[in-house]
Amino acid sequence: MKKIVMKFGGTSVATGENIRRVAKIVADSTKKDQRVVVVVSALAGVTNQLVEEAEQAKKQDEKQIQEFTGKLVEKHVATAVEAIKNKTVQKETEQAIKKAVSELEKVLTGICYVGEITPKSRDYVLSFGERLSAPIVCGALRDIKLQAQCFTGKDAGIVTDENFGAASPLMNVTTHQVKGRLEPLLEKNVVPVVTGYIAATQDGVVTTLGRGGSDYTATILSVALSADEVWIWTDVDGIMTTDPKIVQSAKMLPQLSYGEAVEMAIFGAKAMHPSALEPVIEAQIPVRIRNVFNPENPGTLIANGEETKSTEVVKAVAMIRDVAMINIKGAAMVGAPGSYSKVFDVLGKNNINVMMVSTAVSEANISLIIRRSLLGRTLSTLEIALLGRGLVSEITSEDDVCVIAAMGANMKGTLGVASRIFAAMAQKGINIRMIAQGSSELNVSFVVKEKDGEAAVRAIHEEFKLDRI
Ligand code: ASP
Ligand code: MG
Repeated sequence: MKKIVMKFGGTSVATGENIRRVAKIVADSTKKDQRVVVVVSALAGVTNQLVEEAEQAKKQDEKQIQEFTGKLVEKHVATAVEAIKNKTVQKETEQAIKKAVSELEKVLTGICYVGEITPKSRDYVLSFGERLSAPIVCGALRDIKLQAQCFTGKDAGIVTDENFGAASPLMNVTTHQVKGRLEPLLEKNVVPVVTGYIAATQDGVVTTLGRGGSDYTATILSVALSADEVWIWTDVDGIMTTDPKIVQSAKMLPQLSYGEAVEMAIFGAKAMHPSALEPVIEAQIPVRIRNVFNPENPGTLIANGEETKSTEVVKAVAMIRDVAMINIKGAAMVGAPGSYSKVFDVLGKNNINVMMVSTAVSEANISLIIRRSLLGRTLSTLEIALLGRGLVSEITSEDDVCVIAAMGANMKGTLGVASRIFAAMAQKGINIRMIAQGSSELNVSFVVKEKDGEAAVRAIHEEFKLDRI
């Protein structure tokens, strides 16, 4: 009997109709004698609303909290009524929703009085999206006569460190607890429905695994339960060669290695939470990306040695927007040990994440890519710390750039990949501002002006004939 952990994303549970579709997918699987664990995200958009509301509450406007929680109840109850036919189950779900929201209201009121939100209380607020969606999905399963039981990540036994906002699982305790709590249910053909994204510290304080963390919940559970596969259900057929909004002939990639998938998750193919693959790589559990709106499609399979056999070395190309480039110049950095570490130390201490770095052997120049929203703060931080101290003479920036990343496992050891990529750019008259190749050799990334980004993606897609994969 196969054991499968299925994660359903925000769009998959966005409406009552979609939730009924989810329930049918689970029912079809159990009919095939598969044992299923369900992991759910918050209804589409709800986590973002909670993020905003937490900020609002800080501004100490108490009236506005009731308005927000009122709408939240309304939205979830309406979804439940649409998803669940049986009146008793409907009523029970409605009560669960109201109970959770009244707890949320207390938390928000607390924040409002104190006028402050900590990483801990923020995670607590953000946990409510999944705490509200899971009971509806559970109700919809019971509505079609499946046995189901609802769990928070904490109740399911997922324990994390105390890194609120982006907590990591402590796998030993987690495995022990999850096995003990969920395994007996699976044996009795009960479907556990677990809230994605949220867990708890060893002391039971609620944590979140980082935005998009429901994927992570699914892979953590799959390892704890030694599942056969993880299925990430989403609203697209699988991982694509590029964004179909940029290249209409973009194709679905039937198979990817873990290494390729990690690379793509990091480069914002948005298919997965960047850490979500860590647990399954070690345990060698295959992951499938599948489409709830097209369940006939097998989707993209991510597993070892399962690279799509492509004669081409580049398999996918992505454009990363909303970034900015910073150039740090200083002849004094040449041959001065520790000069780079000063730059990165300042950035690290100020919590500024560097996405890409390039330096030349002349050492007189470091180029960095960061999120565009951080540009102002990064520049002032660097200027205060570095200018006028003899090391750095000039700091400049460009905020109208984007990163283009070309990926594929076959790049490793293949000659001429970079020359083909850059020749394609030259042909289209696109100027390259910065280049970096990871030593993993799974990707080549470079920076161009944002206005040239889409043309750059199209040129690479064409050069490596990605529409024929
Ligand atoms: N609801 C959370 C988020 O929006 C987690 C997830 O959807 O995976 O980030
Ligand atoms: Mg999501």
